[in-house]
Amino acid sequence: MRCLMCGEPIGTETFADLFRGEDVLCSACRGQWKRISHRFRFCGKNAFGLYEYNDAFSSCLIQFKELGDEALKDVFLYPDHARLKRMYHGRTLLLLPSAAEKLEARGFSHLWEMFESIGLPMLEPFVKRDTGDQKARTRRERKTMESGITLKADVHLPKRVVLADDVITSGSTMKGALAVLPKDLDVQVFACAITPKLRPQSEGKRFLNAIINKDIII
Ligand SMILES: [Zn+2]
Repeated sequence: MRCLMCGEPIGTETFADLFRGEDVLCSACRGQWKRISHRFRFCGKNAFGLYEYNDAFSSCLIQFKELGDEALKDVFLYPDHARLKRMYHGRTLLLLPSAAEKLEARGFSHLWEMFESIGLPMLEPFVKRDTGDQKARTRRERKTMESGITLKADVHLPKRVVLADDVITSGSTMKGALAVLPKDLDVQVFACAITPKLRPQSEGKRFLNAIINKDIII
């Protein structure tokens, strides 16, 4: 078997390989992901992220999401499926939306594929209209831009839910989804990876980041 990212054979040569289990990434590639299992507050809700969003995670996500490599669908939550099922027992995952145009171009719902192996009920209750390529905009423009997210017509939402996304970076999509949910729902937030800005830091560093990143909304 070969690693789905680097193509190198996955063996049992190294000590780390012995604990690799069913992972489809080799220990070298997996080792570049920064695991944090971080609990934090996001807009007043309990939130949880598994990894810090770094270059290695980003490369894998792009290969899955933008290049359509569906074989990578289980990489992101491995080996946490059972843990997440226990953690969110009794809740329904509400998957955050992609812009309709991107979804059509991609041809598959990458979040549905990513999260379905957890075995929890899932809904895609949101619609997102295309607000342009966010990468092409400045941070200030992104901040002031409307999220473009609405609830689908006639969608029935359960009372206990988890807003689930692949990554929280600026937080604008998650914030947009929270804003359109009924206020009486019991909502938690989950993302596979979060920007380092959402991690606890020393006061000095936190102050510095607050100045640099005025778009952070927690
Ligand atoms: Zn590899």
